[in-house]
Amino acid sequence: MSSSTDTRPFLPFALPSVGEEEIAAVAEAIRSGWLTTGVRTAKFEAEFAAMVGAENALAVNSCTAAMHLGLDALGIGEGYRVALPVWTFTASAECLRYLGAHPLFVDVDRATLNIDPALLEAALDRAGRDGGGPVRAIMPVHFAGQPCDMDSIMAIARARGLRVIEDAAHCFPGKVRMAGPGAEPGDRTIGTIGDITAFSFYATKTITTGEGGMITCREPELARRMKVMRLHGISRDVWDRYTSKTASWRYDIIDAGFKYNLTDIASTMGLVQLGRAAEFLAARARIAAAYDAAFADLPEVETPTVASTTSLHSWHLYVMRIVPERLKIGRDAFIAELNARGVGTSVHFIPLHLMTYWRQRYDLSPRDFPVASGEFERVVSLPIYPRMTEGDVGRVVDAVADVVRAHRC
Ligand SMILES: *Cc1c(COP(=O)(O)O)cnc(C)c1O
Repeated sequence: MSSSTDTRPFLPFALPSVGEEEIAAVAEAIRSGWLTTGVRTAKFEAEFAAMVGAENALAVNSCTAAMHLGLDALGIGEGYRVALPVWTFTASAECLRYLGAHPLFVDVDRATLNIDPALLEAALDRAGRDGGGPVRAIMPVHFAGQPCDMDSIMAIARARGLRVIEDAAHCFPGKVRMAGPGAEPGDRTIGTIGDITAFSFYATKTITTGEGGMITCREPELARRMKVMRLHGISRDVWDRYTSKTASWRYDIIDAGFKYNLTDIASTMGLVQLGRAAEFLAARARIAAAYDAAFADLPEVETPTVASTTSLHSWHLYVMRIVPERLKIGRDAFIAELNARGVGTSVHFIPLHLMTYWRQRYDLSPRDFPVASGEFERVVSLPIYPRMTEGDVGRVVDAVADVVRAHRC
């Protein structure tokens, strides 16, 4: 169908799956009279921890806050460096700057667009000689919901005495196959592998609380530090002060903390979303499979590669790539053509070395990141969310096929 005759409403790139259940839960929380962090947040943390199999889970008001608290707890401060992929959202890197620390950007694996362990090793070797600050941690980003090669990353971290803080904004729920020494062989859930894992409940993520995030970690000292810094550096949290038998006005300030706690209004929505997470995942996986099948015989586009180490892909994003040699148009025009056919898309990500701040602050060049620079020109994120009907999926498939037919070489 040509765009000029298509009268169907525009299909958005993303829509949250929230409905009457979330509305009822939020209304109940508001009526209870307890709005800020309280018993609903404690329940959300406990249920999230149980689902992931994590020792500790701390609710916060964003994944960015989670990473800031995590880096602080790991002792990442002024002048230190943390290795992370250049293929990520700016939040991953900006929280380093909050602490006066610096990113050590690493290029990605062409197949998965996750941090490339071999290039990570090379970057760490170079960092040992370049006179920059000491590298203290690695921050893998599980891009699109596909877990990184955690066996390789954990081995590198162990060999060099580095901490691991995972940006799992895309990866709930996710599982990765691990076999290496020090790890129990088998499928490991994202949230139980590195020292700290940060999740996002932003409006477009796999489950949402509007804004929100969760931190998981194993070590009680890390959990304690993050809990205190989450709420102003207060030695007791507000719920504890409310319910405890000791005087509720008595507290101490042990550091200059932050205001990163999650409200009970958000947490109650999170509890409903947790209960629906498996159903959401199944819906996204079905859409991914439908796209894979539909594009299998279109050599003009590449479907996402699922690594042999991936045992559970969250399918937060479906990132297809155009094959420029087979098309007369580039990625930007491809997106414009889909848009003209009523299909919303996005691009994940514009790599950070192409962003003004990061490029100028660290004197970065596309030559330093050949994979990210090249793949950026080819990626298109297609709609993938549970509210899409079979008709919506068919419409995306038809639009992609139609654009390919109109513009193939
Ligand atoms: C969304 C996102 C974040 C930030 O999550 P917030 O909850 O909005 O702070 C961090 N990293 C990546 C890779 C993201 O996509």
